[in-house]
Amino acid sequence: MRRCIAYQYTRKPPLTLRPRPNVIIRLCSIECCFAHSLEDCKSKENAQFRDDIIAWQPVAPLLYIWDYTPNFGHYQQPFPNLDSLQPNVNFFVDHHVKGLFEQGNYSPGGMGELGPLRAYLLAKLLWNPKTDLARHRQEFLQAWYGKAAPKVGAFLDLMQDQVRGKDIHAHIFDRPQRAYLKADFLRTADEILATAEAAAETDIQKFHVAVTRLPVWYVQISTGEVKGEALESLRSRFLQVARKAGISNISESKSLDEWEKSFKK
Ligand SMILES: [Zn+2]
Repeated sequence: MRRCIAYQYTRKPPLTLRPRPNVIIRLCSIECCFAHSLEDCKSKENAQFRDDIIAWQPVAPLLYIWDYTPNFGHYQQPFPNLDSLQPNVNFFVDHHVKGLFEQGNYSPGGMGELGPLRAYLLAKLLWNPKTDLARHRQEFLQAWYGKAAPKVGAFLDLMQDQVRGKDIHAHIFDRPQRAYLKADFLRTADEILATAEAAAETDIQKFHVAVTRLPVWYVQISTGEVKGEALESLRSRFLQVARKAGISNISESKSLDEWEKSFKK
């Protein structure tokens, strides 16, 4: 079996060349918006990717997809892609995709933003694309957060509301200044998650909520939303929770330690 990546400048199918039957063509969705599904998003990136899948279909009998699920430029940043996971997996299935790789945070300490929830939902989807994903979201929240589950669910809905039905798109290298990460959203999100942390009953559930708060704090720290002593305190809380969680990287290319050193410049 041979593998060829259809990635960035090689994403368009060839006009006349045809892969042999043992060649996997792996099409990569790196440019896409993930706030909205491939079919619903109005961005030109998603329209082009839809066109490319349809164009590859008759060319490549072994069409695979390399798909992206967190923000790789800022692993600890809210990434509102929960609404698009199921429709996109079904879009691939409907277009005869034979293999699907859902790439997550691959750093050594890989507990990125909502990583455990996303991994659970994607595992369920890859097993059965038509599964009841809302039920799986609920069962995860209940098991991971206990009595804090409804509040964490409210936070997830608030995050998705920043992009639902809006001309605001999300890409995998978005910076913290994006329109779906406005200061009022961050403040409300932090209030909701603070009440969630208080509602959690066990130490491990409280810790799970604290880890879930990191992305909100990350953007508040990175954008200067908090200043002075409040900033010092928030950085310290962030680093304490992140180290306890074993988080090693703040992005593909920057470690947590390097990020901390940048505070002192
Ligand atoms: Zn979009």
